[in-house]
Amino acid sequence: MGITIERIGKSFRGLPALDNIELAIPDGELTALLGPSGSGKTTLLRILAGLETPDTGRIRFGETDVTDRHVRDRRVGFVFQHYALFRHMNVAENIAFGLSVLPRAERPDRAAIDRRVNELLEMIQLESLHDRYPAQLSGGQKQRVALARAMAVKPEILLLDEPFGALDAKVRKELRRWLRNLHDELHFTSVFVTHDQEEALELSDQVVVMNHGRIEQVDPPQTVYERPASRFVFDFLGRVNILPGRIHDRVLTQGSARVRLPDTCPTAAAQLYLRPHEVRLCDTPGDDAYLPFRIEAINLIGAEVRLELRPEGWESPELWEVGMTHADFNRRRPQRGDRCFAQPTIG
Ligand code: ADP
Ligand code: MG
Repeated sequence: MGITIERIGKSFRGLPALDNIELAIPDGELTALLGPSGSGKTTLLRILAGLETPDTGRIRFGETDVTDRHVRDRRVGFVFQHYALFRHMNVAENIAFGLSVLPRAERPDRAAIDRRVNELLEMIQLESLHDRYPAQLSGGQKQRVALARAMAVKPEILLLDEPFGALDAKVRKELRRWLRNLHDELHFTSVFVTHDQEEALELSDQVVVMNHGRIEQVDPPQTVYERPASRFVFDFLGRVNILPGRIHDRVLTQGSARVRLPDTCPTAAAQLYLRPHEVRLCDTPGDDAYLPFRIEAINLIGAEVRLELRPEGWESPELWEVGMTHADFNRRRPQRGDRCFAQPTIG
C-alpha cells in the first residue's frame, strides 16, 4: 500500500519542524528519509505512525485518509533505535505481544499465535533463541526480535527510525543487508530513517533528502549521488573537492590551477566539485589539467587509501581528498610531502 503525504506542516513551540511536506511513498518499496540531525525525519515518521498530529495537511494510505486515525487503527509496524524489548518476557513472548493485545474479535487463538511466532522466528533466523530473555541477546539480535514483533500483526506499512543506529559498524552492515533481503522477499512498504548516507544509498529504492524540515530531493540512490539537486545534497552525500575559479573558453583557472571542462559542464558554474573517486593522481600534469598538490597525509580507510592533498599555487576552501586502491598504492608508493598532480576523471 502506497503512502501519500500532502502539505504536512508541524511546529513545536512556534518553530517549524516540517514545512509543507509533499511526498509519495511507493507501494512495496523501501524509502529512506535521509538528513542531518534535527531535519524533521523522526517527526515525519511519527506523523505517519499516528504518534504525532500534524498542524496542517493530510496522510493517505492507499486511497484512505488516515490523518485522524488512532495509531492502533493504522496497521503500521515500527522499530525504533531504542524501542526496547520487554525485559521480563522471553523472545517468543515479545514477538507474540502485538497479537495478544489485539481486540478480541481479531485475536488469533493460542495455537495460531504459536504458529505465527515460529514463522517470525524463522524469518529473523533466531529459532534457537525462542526462550531467551533480552538481556541474553546481542544488540543485533534484539533489533531482529524488535522487527519480528513489529511484523507480527502483518502490518501494511513498516516504519523504522534509525533501527541500527546503536549497533557497531560491522553488525549494522550485516543487518542492513539482511533487511534488504527480507524486504525483497516480502515487499512491504517501508520507510527507513537514517542520517547515514551510506546506509540510505545501499539500502533503499528511493532516497528522500531532508534539510530543515523541507525536502531537498527525492530520487533513486544512484541519481541522488550522481545528480544532486542542490548544493546541500551534494555536500551531505559525501566528501567533495572544490576548485573555485574563473571560466573562460571552457577552461577553469585559479592561480596556477587549470582544468579544461568537458562540453557537458554548465558554462555558468565557477566552481568545480569532484568526489574523491572522480580524481586520479599522476606524477606529471595531464593535457587537460594542471592541478599541483603536496601530499599532506595518507590514511588507510578500509578497502581503500585516502590521500589528503594541499593545493600548491592555488586555493581551495579545504584540503582535497583522493582515493586509491591498495594495489595502486603499493605500486606507486606515494610518500607524505611528495608533489603530485590531480586529473579529474569526469567527462
Ligand atoms: P531528526 O529526526 O531529523 O533528527 P526531529 O524530527 O527529531 O529531527 O526534529 C525536528 C525538529 O523538531 C528539531 O528542531 C527538534 O528539536 C524539534 N522537535 C521534535 N520533537 C519535538 C518535541 N516533542 N518538542 C519540541 N521540539 C521537538
Ligand atoms: Mg530522529
